[in-house]
Amino acid sequence: MNCSARQAVFDKVNEMTLLKNQEIVLTIEDFTREGEGLGKYQGFPFFVKDTVIGDKVRVSITKLKKNYGYARLIEILKPSPDRVEPACPVARQCGGCKIQQLSYEKQLEFKWKQVASCMKRIGGFAEIEKLMEPVYGMDHPWHFRNKAQFPIGTDRTGNPVAGFYAGRTHTIIPNTACLIQAEVNQEILETILQYMKENRVAAYDEKRHQGLVRHVLTRVGFVTGQIMVCLVVNGHAGQLVNLNYLIDKLAQISGMTSIVVNTNKDKTNRILGSECKTVWGKDYIEDKIGDIRYQIGPLSFFQVNPMQTRVLYGKALEYAALSGRETVWDLYCGIGTISLFLAQKARQVYGVEVVPEAVEDARRNARLNHIENVTFYVGRAEDVVYRECEAADPDDFHDKKHPEVIVVDPPRKGCDQTLLSTMLAMAPDRIIYVSCDPGTLARDCRILCAENYEIKKVAVVDQFGHSCHVEVVSLLQRMSNTRERTITLDVEMEDYHRIVNGVDHKKRKNTAIDT
Ligand code: SAH
Repeated sequence: MNCSARQAVFDKVNEMTLLKNQEIVLTIEDFTREGEGLGKYQGFPFFVKDTVIGDKVRVSITKLKKNYGYARLIEILKPSPDRVEPACPVARQCGGCKIQQLSYEKQLEFKWKQVASCMKRIGGFAEIEKLMEPVYGMDHPWHFRNKAQFPIGTDRTGNPVAGFYAGRTHTIIPNTACLIQAEVNQEILETILQYMKENRVAAYDEKRHQGLVRHVLTRVGFVTGQIMVCLVVNGHAGQLVNLNYLIDKLAQISGMTSIVVNTNKDKTNRILGSECKTVWGKDYIEDKIGDIRYQIGPLSFFQVNPMQTRVLYGKALEYAALSGRETVWDLYCGIGTISLFLAQKARQVYGVEVVPEAVEDARRNARLNHIENVTFYVGRAEDVVYRECEAADPDDFHDKKHPEVIVVDPPRKGCDQTLLSTMLAMAPDRIIYVSCDPGTLARDCRILCAENYEIKKVAVVDQFGHSCHVEVVSLLQRMSNTRERTITLDVEMEDYHRIVNGVDHKKRKNTAIDT
């Protein structure tokens, strides 16, 4: 629609005097990245949660902005062929799943198309579909999460309840049978709620900052079957009346390995405090991804869908095409999940991660698996890699830390600009970019491909069914064989700032690196 046509629509809307709470009928034509349906009323766009493309719906207007509005679904007049009845009875109220009303097949298609669209629009890769593998979905998209954090509250009758928060609020929607969490959680939660009721142990009330039990955290090793329960309390273990009775009950659950009480006395939205006391069993559970074992404590970061993580990292390993002679850098390495995977096939792996506790876990997991060809650095990837690259003798790539392969797995904001420039200067044969945000992936690939790289393959892996989160892995291959070249960072800096859209990045000094 051109500008004058759009203006005409807005003028018309003003004439129509749409009002809050007014009911209108819409046909949903599009789906946003957040999983809301988009329908137009006489050309004026409305965003409607819980709808899917093709639905004809009656909605009530909740908010009107100058150029768009929001509306709440009242009735489905004609369902889209892609609509399914959500399997969870509280799917609409609960803030967890966003798109259960869309068939799983269509959810996967939506994620694949979203990646393709970002790569085209932001990355400028016009024919990206040709390089994209079919999406890797789950065989059974239920009960796939190994970690759950249930808030505990009190219902109107004074009984303790567990569930999840409704979207954008701290109102608990009671539900002990969440369909995306491990099934054993129901037994764990009901045991704890029963114990609280019988022993008059109060749930935490965040408004008054009173009461004891704030959250129940559970972790389940899907391969090992080991279970951890962690009660987060506004106090300490000694205040849990008759705790041994609860421990006895929980310990009877098959697979129970660790029961921990975590203290969080702060007025905060942060779930866990820093103090943990193991009241039964071990301090951690173990699980496996592929052949690698991991020890996971209550505070450890660990991938929440280990089955699909295996698929994702398997792709990273396949794209890395290692023969056993390579030096590999794994940047933003977390607890070293990818590093340890790669170390099985590489000569030497260097991992870099900014959170010291994660690096401690990474080193412990390396020892646990007797993997010796991996070194972890604590620090910002952009600093550590630059430092090591500069320190290395440019004529001696193989003895120093110059890699054949670099893997990056940054947070949503993508790679730091200095890091992209340093990677270009290091000129590895392959860059494997693992991403949880197709927008920043596309931006960073564009910068790398403006220099000497070419996208060869892209795989979308669904780790979080019924949510809008997307995970992607892509292979970038260096085009020319020359490693020696000068990269003037000014060019990329300019590109970077032009392409970065609404993301706040620190500006750094322009530098030229000779390799
Ligand atoms: N590959 C990891 C997870 C990556 S999540 C795994 O499989 O477990 C992104 C990680 O990047 C987080 O652990 C975060 O702490 C880390 N991180 C964020 N900014 C960073 C930076 N500038 N340098 C290094 N690591 C960073």
